[in-house]
Amino acid sequence: DAEGETAPAPNRHQNRSSETLGETVVPTQFFNEPDTDPSLPANQEWVRKIIAEATAPGYLDDRPNAPKVESTDALDAMIARGRAAAADWRALGAAGRAEILHRAADIFAARRGEFIAVEAAEVGKMPSQSDPEVSEAIDFIRYYALNSLELENLEGATFTPDEMVVITPPWNFPVAIPTGGTVAALAAGSAVIHKPSKPTPHCSALIIDCLWQAGVPKDVLQLCAPIERELGQHLVSHPDVDRVILTGASETASLFKSFRPELHVNAETSGKNALVITPAADRDLAMADLVYSAFGHAGQKCSAASLGIMVGSTYDSERYRRQLIDAASSMVVDWPSNLASTMGPLTEDPSDKLRRALTSLEPGESWLLEPKQLDDSGRLWSPGIKDGVKPGSFFHLTEVFGPVLGLMHAKDLDEAIEFQNAVDFGLTGGIHSLDPGEVSTWLDRVEVGNAYVNRGITGAIVRRQSFGGWKQSSVGLGSKAGGPNYLMLFGHFADAGSQN
Ligand code: GLU
Repeated sequence: DAEGETAPAPNRHQNRSSETLGETVVPTQFFNEPDTDPSLPANQEWVRKIIAEATAPGYLDDRPNAPKVESTDALDAMIARGRAAAADWRALGAAGRAEILHRAADIFAARRGEFIAVEAAEVGKMPSQSDPEVSEAIDFIRYYALNSLELENLEGATFTPDEMVVITPPWNFPVAIPTGGTVAALAAGSAVIHKPSKPTPHCSALIIDCLWQAGVPKDVLQLCAPIERELGQHLVSHPDVDRVILTGASETASLFKSFRPELHVNAETSGKNALVITPAADRDLAMADLVYSAFGHAGQKCSAASLGIMVGSTYDSERYRRQLIDAASSMVVDWPSNLASTMGPLTEDPSDKLRRALTSLEPGESWLLEPKQLDDSGRLWSPGIKDGVKPGSFFHLTEVFGPVLGLMHAKDLDEAIEFQNAVDFGLTGGIHSLDPGEVSTWLDRVEVGNAYVNRGITGAIVRRQSFGGWKQSSVGLGSKAGGPNYLMLFGHFADAGSQN
């Protein structure tokens, strides 16, 4: 019975332009929100209009922005307001909070086009990348709202949430990740101060606006514009802040801890991720997954494939090389002029590391496909593929966060795993092989938080692939975003009398 006992997912992917906000039906079971179907003419027209509006001059000027906070006194007042409001928010109980959050999920869905527009205007993200991000944000809201009911009803253990949580999200997923952290803390029962990443205050302002619209009290959820270092230090060092959720550089996580060692910092940090391809791979699938994982969102994903480790004969195979070059060189990098672009711009000017990766070669390397700067902005680059990346080299070990893929040659699977595990990070990794023995060897030994088999290594789906790293990709985590234990981070358990 397709209707089932529980409310089915509303059929939102048919025609986005007719989307309206109806009455909220609180689901009793989780479902993943469907992405927009881009093959429908009505949806193509809907996207075309959104992008035309978003790329017109001054679009962001008329939109809600994050308010500026000028002094440490103002931050102190926010923290005090949040803590004072936390008690009532907690007293509402998980069911009361979840009802508001489910309403928020419906509001996000009804305002999907606005999210796509603001992301396009603020960071140049293309709808093919931002549309799934809105779905992921909605998934986080519904998933954590449902999880919070379980957390409240655990037998023999009482969960006490943190009072004040600070969320400091990244700019590369400026809708999904900031929403995820914020709603997790809210669902657990905490008050939140949300400090957007510098390039994306409008994305954060839209998220917060939707949550307020749904009924989250304004003192429980407060927004402040990106702040300078001194104020940032004051915020995360404040004794009344219980926890900081960070997605960013591992250096930032260490810095926060150095400000105040007893602060709880939960951080998802960098990655240097590899996809291993063995002679037993399905070649077409492997190449498509490698190219998408490397160049989706111009490689600006912590999860991106930065290395293709080609095992044995796959490295020299003319067919592999031809297919890889063809797939990468036929990418359309002409956003926003061409809506059919398959790769967009960098959000920020290339860092020194990325510039080095885009413009120079280390000993033994050559270009299989040389990246080209495509306009004067310095942010639009065609994809690049480096051949002959050597173990221990700069490109093998360094996260560059941009549209460059490096190929390494491993003589066998053992050596491939050795290359993959030699990096300090351990966020995502993948293998393409149809040989079950190879797959199980790899799964036993690879040191990554998210290990993918015969699939790309980006685009974790809430509940299906909870997301989080190992080694230097994670600080203080121990439970993964979009997974069953994530909410438990936001507080502590007091159990009835046991001293164990
Ligand atoms: N969750 C995203 C993915 O699975 C990556 C998030 C990030 O780049 O931090 O691709």
